Amino acid sequence: MLLAEIADVGTDRFRGGYARHGFDRADLQLRAWFTEQAERRGLAVYTDRNGNLWAWWGEPGPGAVATGSHLDSVPGGGAFDGPLGVVSALAAVDVLRARDFVPARPIAVVVFAEEEGGRFGVPCLGSRLATGAIGPDTARGLRDPDGVSLAEAARAAGLNPAHLGRDDAALSGLRCFVELHVEQGRQLDLLPERTPVAVATSILAHGRWRLTFRGQGNHAGTTAVADRRDPMIPASSTVLAARRALAGTDARATVGRLVPTPGGTNVIPSSVDVWLDARAPSTPDTRKLVDEIVAAAREASAAEGCAVEVREESYGDAVTFDAALRDELAGLLGGVPALPTGAGHDAGILAARVPTAMLFVRNPTGVSHAPEEHAEPDDCAAGVAALASVLEHLAS
Ligand SMILES: [Zn+2]
Repeated sequence: MLLAEIADVGTDRFRGGYARHGFDRADLQLRAWFTEQAERRGLAVYTDRNGNLWAWWGEPGPGAVATGSHLDSVPGGGAFDGPLGVVSALAAVDVLRARDFVPARPIAVVVFAEEEGGRFGVPCLGSRLATGAIGPDTARGLRDPDGVSLAEAARAAGLNPAHLGRDDAALSGLRCFVELHVEQGRQLDLLPERTPVAVATSILAHGRWRLTFRGQGNHAGTTAVADRRDPMIPASSTVLAARRALAGTDARATVGRLVPTPGGTNVIPSSVDVWLDARAPSTPDTRKLVDEIVAAAREASAAEGCAVEVREESYGDAVTFDAALRDELAGLLGGVPALPTGAGHDAGILAARVPTAMLFVRNPTGVSHAPEEHAEPDDCAAGVAALASVLEHLAS
């Protein structure tokens, strides 16, 4: 399978799994690999103004059917999240070619840039830029942990940062977009039907917030407790408040990243940045959840004599995928189940502009965003077969 060809690209020596982030060395290597694979299949590859790659089978034009996913990963991510959708799309083209299928509509295999937001903090950056969900000025100013801006990284990757932004030319010709993705939970595996593939119904509303707690940096040995203004205290209270706020809800709230400054063992930090990922079935539910956690953060901050600043780094409303397309594909695939997900996807961003569907491939443990993420080869093959049927149907 094609995934094996990129198994050594961007391996994460420290965390295990992969570190492949928008326009970094590993990502550029994967993009070059994709371009070569697509061209080897006779597909014409071009890079759009936002750094998304489009590989065309047939002349680009109205009524096109697009499929694809992303090649970047979270820090220490698994092998399947993203790349499975890309390699399955290429493999589906091979299946259709072997059947002598000639598409009546053009087919595009798309690789969206920086889907995980692992480098610049905003997930689905390439698709958000294309749809206008994020403005170009905001995007150009995003910085990675080393202080490199998206504008600088884009320029280094051969893009013109002045051209970043809404791309109606790329999206207006699309009849639909179908993203195949490894399931990032165990719903499919737990169903009695034992089917390897499902279609998606919806995505939770979700966003990212950065809470910066500021206190007084000081000596760990000489500063009496009464004299401390330690921002780690309200930061850690906020982590616990996020868990408490979930009681009795369908929501999710996670702190997966917390950075103390300056970050010394014998130093009371002067500030602590906490990134909160919060998700719930609707925007009001999500706002309520975040308001509750932020209120707890402010209270804990005041009690320690610290200040806290809250910034929303990204937000996306709940997504319901196109019901007609979803039912059409589920029927075409023999009545496969339809499942919701708590994970964000480029398909969720595109759904605002284009009829969009997703195919999920069974994940036997449900683990994702971790090196242990897995899908069985037979299930991946079933995913390719399903995607080939879908493309054949939609592009006929
Ligand atoms: Zn993904």
